[in-house]
Formats: sequence, C-alpha cells, structure tokens
Amino acid sequence: MRTLDDLDAEGKRVLVRVDFNVPLDDQQKITDDARIRGALPTLEELRDKGAAQLILLAHLGRPKDREPKFSLKPAAERLSELLGTEVALAPDLDEVPESDVVMMENVRYEPGETKNDPELAKRYAALADVYVNDAFGAAHRAHASTEAVAHLLPSAAGRLLEREVKTLNGILEDPQRPLVAVVGGAKVTDKIGVLDAFLERADVVLIGGAMCFPFFSAQGHEVGDSLCEAEGVEPARHTLEGGGDKLRLPQDLVAGREFAADTEVREIDGVDVPDGWMGLDIGPASSEAYAEVIRDAGTVFWNGPMGAFELESFAAGTRRVAEAMAECEGTTVVGGGDSAAALKQFGLADRVTHLSTGGGASLELIEGKPLPGVEALT
Ligand code: ADP
Ligand code: MG
Repeated sequence: MRTLDDLDAEGKRVLVRVDFNVPLDDQQKITDDARIRGALPTLEELRDKGAAQLILLAHLGRPKDREPKFSLKPAAERLSELLGTEVALAPDLDEVPESDVVMMENVRYEPGETKNDPELAKRYAALADVYVNDAFGAAHRAHASTEAVAHLLPSAAGRLLEREVKTLNGILEDPQRPLVAVVGGAKVTDKIGVLDAFLERADVVLIGGAMCFPFFSAQGHEVGDSLCEAEGVEPARHTLEGGGDKLRLPQDLVAGREFAADTEVREIDGVDVPDGWMGLDIGPASSEAYAEVIRDAGTVFWNGPMGAFELESFAAGTRRVAEAMAECEGTTVVGGGDSAAALKQFGLADRVTHLSTGGGASLELIEGKPLPGVEALT
C-alpha cells in the first residue's frame, strides 16, 4: 500500500477522501468529532509538506437527494476550528473556492457516487493533481470517491488509513499471544465471518451480547423473550461444532422484563431465560471470568458490547470488559461503532491501544475480505 511517504505533495492540489460521517443531534450539532480529529495528522502533514490546496471529499449518512440535513457544513465548521484555518464549503463540483482548504459537499448528493461511476470519478480527479484516501471507515465500499478516483491520479493512503490497516493486519499476521477475541453485539449473522476468522487464529474467543442466544438456542437452552436472531441459530450451531474449547459463552446472565431503563431486573445463575424475561447482559461471574482472560492477553480484539450497555441496569458486563481492556498490558484494539461508544461512555477510550474509526471496514478486514479502497492504493 502506498503511503504519504511515497507521494510528492509539494505545490500540488491534493484531493483527500476523509471519513467525516459523524453523528449529529437534531440541532445539526456534532456529538462526537473523533473522525474529524482522526484526519488531522494527514491534513497537517500535507500542509507542512507544502500542498498548494487541500480539497476534501466525504460522505454523511445516506441522503436520497440533496437533503440539507446531510450537508457537510457542520463538519467543515468543526474542521476550521481544529485546523485553525478557514475551511470553505463548496456546494458542488463545478464551484471550487480558492481557499487553502476546501470541503466539497456530501459526495452522496451525487447519484454516481455509490455506483463507483467512472464519469463522476473523472470529475473528482479534475479537481486536483494527486489523491489521498484517509477514509478507513469507507474503505470497504467501492465508491467513486474511494475506488474509481484512486486509479486516475497518483494516489496514496493517509496516516489514519495506514495505521488502521497496519494495526488490524498486525493482529492477524503477527499477534503477541495469547490472542483473545471478544465478540458481542446484536446479531450473530453480522459477526459470523469474524468469529470464524478468530476461531482459526485466536487462542480464546469470548462471546457476549444478544448474539449469545442463537448459541444457547442451538444448545437447547430456553431463551425466553431474549433478542435471538432466528437465522443465527444454524450458523451458531456450526460454529459451536467447529469451535472446540476456544469458544467461551457466558455462564450467567442479567435479565429484564423489557428493553427499558426502568424495567424489573434479575440475575440468572445459568443461561436458561424464563418466559416473560429477556437476557440483556452477561452476569457477574461471566464478566469476571472474561476480565481475567482479557487482562492476561498479549493481544485483544473487541467488537460488540456484552449487553444493552445504553441502559445502566445492563451496562455492567460491558463496563467490566472495557475496564479489563484498559488494565491489559498487551495490544488492545476495539472495532465497531457501539463498542467505541461504550468505551467513551465509560471514559476509557484513551486507555486502549487502538480504537478503530471503521466498524464495517474493520470487520471485513479481519474476515480477510479485500477492501476496495485499500486495494486501489496498492
Ligand atoms: P458494534 O456497533 O460495536 O459492532 P452491534 O451494533 O453489533 O455492535 O451491537 C450493539 C447493540 O447490541 C447495542 O445497541 C446493544 O444494546 C445491543 N445488545 C447487546 N446485547 C444485547 C442484548 N442482550 N439484548 C438486546 N440488545 C443487545
Ligand atoms: Mg452497531
């Protein structure tokens, strides 16, 4: 993969694909600017190297047409503050301001973007002399601004994308052992590829979250009213058969009557959930056992919360895992939007080695799928 070390930016107009797909509240205020901050090393390095102009491409959400609520204006304003220089917002591809740093409007306002349209890519390429992709979070998509355009200009990875790819590849290729994978979240079918990848490579795979229930169901346990993905039961059975003793499931649970903050709560010693109850967190014995394995690991990859951590009554299992990540002296890597949100909620985001900015992209990389945005830079 070509990096900024291989690219001559001096005096050049640089087209930079960034991942500014940030969460906004209903006042269009950015609630978490981590992705914008994540691009700063690349943008600052390009400016230090004497780039003539930076022209940024990014997407926000999934607009149907030019819906104003998907404008990148808030991101451009936030970037202005962070860079300490004015960032001009260009309304469309035909009007590029002279400013040193220009943010183009949401690439998904262009119908050809998600189709990887070569004509649109040509229009992007005409804006600049060289191309840098720093949008790891969009690297698993073959879109005009992430894939097609990379072939039309001298191109390279930015520092964020470079670090993401190197860190995640490092886990797969040469991890400090024991290598522990912690996989949770809502649906087992989202994560089955990652589970299988880790069952091949890791020493221990710890399972939590609602995705436990297809496993428990396959083992013949009662799941009560728990969120239990029906299409997940067969893949879970298959993974159980192949997983051997690497695969660990919870031994106790915390259940509620419903998915709500004020619901009645009970601990279940064991994993059979009675009717009228739903399992919403792993229990204290499970989280203590998981924490011990994580603390002693050489490398940990964590994706997916252990329970409904958004509700305080069901946050303890995820908190315990997050604390163990912070205590672990090995390499600790977290991928996944909700897992990152949980870590931030507990104030532990800066206590892990690497917090990936790309949910889907990090999972696809771990699964061994080629990322089109990365392939285009090699
Ligand atoms: P990530 O974004 O980190 O990949 P996911 O999107 O797969 O994680 O899963 C996160 C969601 O799973 C959270 O909204 C959380 O509330 C939910 N969740 C986790 N455990 C449970 C559970 N036992 N029952 C219901 N929802 C759960
Ligand atoms: Mg999620």
